[in-house]
Amino acid sequence: MELFSDFKLNPKILKAVQEAGYEKPTPIQNKAIPAALEGKDVLGIAQTGTGKTASFTLPMINLLARGRARARMPRSLVLCPTRELAAQVAENFDTYAKNLKLTKALLIGGVSFKEQDTLIDKGVDVLIATPGRLIDHFERGKLLLTGVQVMVVDEADRMLDMGFIPDIERIFKLTPFTRQTLFFSATMAPEIERITNTFLSAPIRVEIARQATASENIEQSVVMFKPKRKDTEGSEKRKLLRRLIDLEGKKCANAIVFCNRKTDVDICSKSLNKYGYQAAPIHGDLDQAKRTDTLENFRDGGLRILVASDVAARGLDIPSVSHVFNFDVPIQAEDYVHRIGRTGRAGREGRAIMICSNKDYKNFVNVEALIQKEIPRIDISGGENDTRSNNSSVDQTKVDQDKIAKPKNYKKVKGSDSKADVIGLGEHTPGFLAQSFTDRLVG
Ligand code: ADP
Ligand code: MG
Repeated sequence: MELFSDFKLNPKILKAVQEAGYEKPTPIQNKAIPAALEGKDVLGIAQTGTGKTASFTLPMINLLARGRARARMPRSLVLCPTRELAAQVAENFDTYAKNLKLTKALLIGGVSFKEQDTLIDKGVDVLIATPGRLIDHFERGKLLLTGVQVMVVDEADRMLDMGFIPDIERIFKLTPFTRQTLFFSATMAPEIERITNTFLSAPIRVEIARQATASENIEQSVVMFKPKRKDTEGSEKRKLLRRLIDLEGKKCANAIVFCNRKTDVDICSKSLNKYGYQAAPIHGDLDQAKRTDTLENFRDGGLRILVASDVAARGLDIPSVSHVFNFDVPIQAEDYVHRIGRTGRAGREGRAIMICSNKDYKNFVNVEALIQKEIPRIDISGGENDTRSNNSSVDQTKVDQDKIAKPKNYKKVKGSDSKADVIGLGEHTPGFLAQSFTDRLVG
């Protein structure tokens, strides 16, 4: 299929898609939508940013366009791992269903039970929920899942990371076995394989490699960090981060800084602000209103730096990030791929810069093994003469970025020829990376 109009979608939905400005379906939409429209179960395996949301919302809305909801019995259900993702699905739903009279309820933490209960009582066409909150509602006895015709599980691998698999199993069992299931995950861990074998029936499996451009446009590098003193390691590392940001200068329009721990997300964000960088934290312990505000501000360009944990950032739809800074090497090598995938999207140039301390080295080796590529080391020690303390009030913030002489300060040490660092592809190379390497070898 080349065009959305080739799908057997309700004209009112097609009109909404057109108005959203989408020209043609993405590869996953191309394969998943026709299968879902035929009523088949779909198992979609694709990375973030491939357009999964429309792959399930469009066929769902198409089905819901006929018929009406009954009190307390939602007709469809979408499960998402985080509140932000659920809110994004709800937004997508509103966009595509705007020419139809469909109702929805969003069951996520931070939104009052009472309001949602009233909606459910009246009857909703779609329920969009995080698993924990859905079960809370169910246990209050106000919700029946026996009318669910379509159930969607989005970002299943993140559900697994967050310990939601038992909840998902329980929810599956509360819905009729005749339901249609649309299931999406970036990876197929054994536990996820097991769930899909149990709850999907003869699914159409759609596996998509991310567009080659995504990773090709990302220039990656790593700085090996050795603190001068053990007791000031944290502040030295934060100082290094500021320096890395400064070295990027104006090219760094906006950035996500990833930390492994929530406490570091908070500390890093506070410290950046203290030194005059606009930053705000986002992680699972912050209340919903705050997270939504922060994200909106970041999307609108009012905030330059988002400091995030992996879970909070997973799947967030942030269209244009120029830079990703990995304050820590991710513990799970796959998270590296997710993190850097936040930049270099849709043909834009992106930079991904990581700090690696001694204790991160083991994880770093795993990252390079996973991506089957040596990440160029950069050495920024030349030009830095003040790593003694972090309390000097004269910091880099006011430095005229254009005066920073790149060649001198920004020496690439190893593997600096990014075209020459293809080592070879193994069967464990993530699809989109393999694709990009192949393209490079060919092109
Ligand atoms: P995923 O869930 O796979 O991470 P999303 O569904 O959030 O991806 O889509 C990622 C981005 O791509 C969003 O900004 C979305 O609006 C956009 N998008 C989705 N489908 C299309 C399309 N067919 N054409 C253009 N942009 C699209
Ligand atoms: Mg998504």
